[in-house]
Amino acid sequence: MKKRVYIIYTGGTVGMQPTPEGYAPAPGYLAEQIMSMPELKSNLMPEVDIQEYDPLLDSANITPEDWYKIARDIGAHYHDYDGFIILHGTDTMAYTASALPFMLQELGKPVVLTGSQIPLCEVRNDARANIITALTVAADFAIPEVCLCFGNQLLRGCRSVKVSTDGLDAFASPNLPPLGDIGVDIRIHRELVLPAPSEGSSLQVQELKQVNVGALPLWPGIPAQVVRNFLQPPLQGLILRAYGVGNGPTNNADFLAALEEATARGVVIVDCTQCLRGSVHLGDYATGSALARAGVISGYDMTAEAALAKLSYLFSQNLPVNEIKRLVQTNLRGELTV
Ligand code: ASP
Repeated sequence: MKKRVYIIYTGGTVGMQPTPEGYAPAPGYLAEQIMSMPELKSNLMPEVDIQEYDPLLDSANITPEDWYKIARDIGAHYHDYDGFIILHGTDTMAYTASALPFMLQELGKPVVLTGSQIPLCEVRNDARANIITALTVAADFAIPEVCLCFGNQLLRGCRSVKVSTDGLDAFASPNLPPLGDIGVDIRIHRELVLPAPSEGSSLQVQELKQVNVGALPLWPGIPAQVVRNFLQPPLQGLILRAYGVGNGPTNNADFLAALEEATARGVVIVDCTQCLRGSVHLGDYATGSALARAGVISGYDMTAEAALAKLSYLFSQNLPVNEIKRLVQTNLRGELTV
């Protein structure tokens, strides 16, 4: 029997067409193109249904509400399909790929995000190959995870980051090797794939509420007042993009005081590094220990995208602050190495 894959098309370059103002989403176009692809007639390809969002979005316009909508749409069709594809703009694809795993608890089927750097309407494009590879992965591979399939890599969604504005291998997974390599064969690194949920369990879509979390990079000379203003209520959680192994300008007593005042009020401040690769170690330098004393917690090797999505998810669960802090530092969906 043919496998069945459900495609959710949210927008993005993949289905855009040129307009006088640059590429913009074109309703109806991509679904029509996909359904008429000769490749889909092959016995090797799954049966496909496509849901197109209205409006189609450049992913720069995607919000956490859209993340939750995608999760609910997967939930609503979960039992009728073998796998799911989310066609998405590349700009914030890594954020959506980071958020979905937290909402899709006990996920037992592949959810594959993809898109392209060149739209399908162009003669030379990466859209066709990305869509066909994603279809193959979603239909034929037992990967009970949210993953991001792009160019020649299959990445864990909550480890992915966009690293190139124009390369066709636009994404990387700096702190976890790819789950799969896409070459002549699709080679899955089984030892890295998360175990399937226990038998008898079924998908539970976790709610994502409107919460107040944000991210702030440090820069040399950052005024303490900027940090203090940023941390004002209603902010509940902050990803602090710090230097190296998580260090900050601790000669600035007012900067430290701003952090301490906020953590004392219950704001959760998670230290993620500005470096692409590696982990935060707050005890390595005095400039990190002082942040820890101000109540900042380590985000270890989580990407800032994953840390932000995780905070959104945790604050949506109405948990006490201490439990949120504990869970931030606990590996929930393969997003951090412990
Ligand atoms: N601006 C586009 C988007 O993220 C870029 C892309 O899809 O590659 O929707």
